[in-house]
Amino acid sequence: MSFAASVLTLYPEMFPGALGLSLAGRALEAGIWSLEAIQIRDFATDKHRTVDDTPAGGGAGMVMRADVLARAIDHASPPGDPRPRLLMSPRGKPLTQARVRELAAGPGAVILCGRFEGVDQRLIEARGLEEVSIGDFILSGGEPAALVLLDAVVRLLPGVMGNAVSGEEESFENGLLEHPHYTRPQEFEGRPIPDVLISGNHKKIGEWRRAEAEKLTRERRPDLLANVPPR
Ligand code: SAH
Repeated sequence: MSFAASVLTLYPEMFPGALGLSLAGRALEAGIWSLEAIQIRDFATDKHRTVDDTPAGGGAGMVMRADVLARAIDHASPPGDPRPRLLMSPRGKPLTQARVRELAAGPGAVILCGRFEGVDQRLIEARGLEEVSIGDFILSGGEPAALVLLDAVVRLLPGVMGNAVSGEEESFENGLLEHPHYTRPQEFEGRPIPDVLISGNHKKIGEWRRAEAEKLTRERRPDLLANVPPR
């Protein structure tokens, strides 16, 4: 059974976008995952196909209407759909590799992309949307955030990455940032590849990589160290 993504957006032309190329694009063609981009505007009922209105209480910007969005979600994800319903939102829980893994192990995701000031709070509550943030900055819309989330998920689907091992050693998978990488030439602008890496001693190489990963994590992301499982 393949991973099924349904994205609700005012800009369906943004999909699959970057996900139509490279690993994700090949996996899409191979049917390892599917992507349906749904135009929210199709669920408006007035002749101008209005999806937003002025904020209750006043202030700048516009808010996406609960009634229009509810019709779009109910179409994409009828009762009984087992897929989680996500709302891309800077107020959401920051996306982690652990959540990405859970999503990749599931049946898919229904993803609502906000625009303007965001969406009516009653819609979030009434449809049980899980708010997901991709970081502490503001995008102009949820579409790039949805592309980021799907990219992270799709590469974990079985059959997508050529070398499955490379996924397990990556940054965050063991709670650490990854060790540095080197490849030919043996010397670049006077800088040689560290000797241990050309020693052929795989035990030593493993120890060196682990030590480098720990050093890098201590320097750059000490906050991660609290979660490192013992070896
Ligand atoms: N007024 C809102 C920001 C709206 S930005 C606030 O201050 O919280 C418009 C839309 O872009 C949002 O509805 C959301 O879907 C998306 N978006 C913006 N930043 C995001 C982020 N860091 N992560 C995920 N989605 C984001």
